Amino acid sequence: MSELNPFKIAQAQFDEAAEILGLEPAMREILRWPRREYKFTIPVKMDDGSTKVFHGYRVQYNDARGPTKGGLRWHPDETIDTVRALAAWMTWKTSVVDIPLGGGKGGVTCNPKEMSENEKERLARGWMRVIARELGGDRDCPAPDVYTTPQIMAWMMDEYETIIGRNHPAVITGKPIPIGGSQGRGDATARGGIFTVREACKKLGIDPNGTYAIQGFGNAGQYAALLHKEVLGGGKLIAVSDSRGGIYVEGGMDPEAIVKHKLKTGKVGGFPGSKGITNEELLELDVDILYPSALENVITKDNAKNVKCKISCELANGPTTPEADIILHNKGVHVIPDFLANAGGVTVSYFEQVQGMYNYYWSLEDVHKQLDARMTKAYHDVFNMHSEKKVHMRSAAYLVAVARVAEAVKLRGWV
Ligand code: NAD
Repeated sequence: MSELNPFKIAQAQFDEAAEILGLEPAMREILRWPRREYKFTIPVKMDDGSTKVFHGYRVQYNDARGPTKGGLRWHPDETIDTVRALAAWMTWKTSVVDIPLGGGKGGVTCNPKEMSENEKERLARGWMRVIARELGGDRDCPAPDVYTTPQIMAWMMDEYETIIGRNHPAVITGKPIPIGGSQGRGDATARGGIFTVREACKKLGIDPNGTYAIQGFGNAGQYAALLHKEVLGGGKLIAVSDSRGGIYVEGGMDPEAIVKHKLKTGKVGGFPGSKGITNEELLELDVDILYPSALENVITKDNAKNVKCKISCELANGPTTPEADIILHNKGVHVIPDFLANAGGVTVSYFEQVQGMYNYYWSLEDVHKQLDARMTKAYHDVFNMHSEKKVHMRSAAYLVAVARVAEAVKLRGWV
């Protein structure tokens, strides 16, 4: 795995699970590769009158368990291999939470920060015109991801419905609520993660009213701060951080006050009564629950030995390196791996897809109840595999997810 090609990494992770599961060669081959991938050009008329040609992608990694689903990234570093890797991870994520979907991903190589709203609208509609015939609530359903927004989803849905000549909001999720978005999508990732923490506390006999710390204070981190108490009924938030550094309050801080401070000043630093700490120090605090909610590769072989939390709930994607996983496991740190911990987002996206298919929308209470049921079951499925096979939680999550997709492939008679 010396190459840092994300698709090679995704394949290596799959290979490890396939080996433990003893999958036959043809099954391994079909699950190592996307079933279908589309790479295309999108000409867009820019505001200055010129035409710019963008490169777009959609990868439908595996649809044995249901229509493919996964977000759209608009990023200058997007390549077919980043999209393939993310599509593979979506396949395992939808499977681990046992929603009847496959995995996909898409994107455009572009820098939306340099584009006007009109240019973004033309790019969104142009992307959809090329790929519309391959999409649909019963085929492949995109959603927002890095640098794509509910507004972009709205333009894409509108273009799709214009092409097919009928209403079909289930073609895309993450839409604004007035045109078919779901209640509860905004905080779904953090809420889903906290449901898994609640179950882990019960399993491991950890007091849910203990201390917690959060690295990263964006969508995932801020909602984790606010919802931890709501879901668990208690808990003391002693440290938070963002890209500019962290803060620590020994007696605990009021989550609402720190979120207000961050929204007002743009940073967590300078919160009244707090002491400054670094992002590295935050990860090594003696807390019951740690929420890595910022970047990948922050817990590595160099600092894993100093990590003292009892539970690490990975709201961020990829915060722990493979070497660190083993160190944490041997130290008795209970890791709730990213593609389980942060699957609340895709789960509520699935609810949006279902509501769109029925043209009937659920209350917020219904969304929370259904999300709780899915996340709770997913946590226990992974925990049981972890106990049964004596592997760390990330391996256990892979085993659960890959085995389900393999079973679907087998039942369909593909292999
Ligand atoms: P965001 O952009 O809203 O917030 C990211 C936060 O991380 C910001 O507060 C930023 O200041 C902070 N940050 C950046 N660099 C940092 C550093 N070096 N040290 C500490 N903090 C740093 O992003 P988000 O939506 O909250 O996503 C965070 C993570 O959660 C990502 O890994 C993302 O892939 C994952 N995730 C998010 C969702 C979701 O629904 N939002 C779903 C699945 C996974």
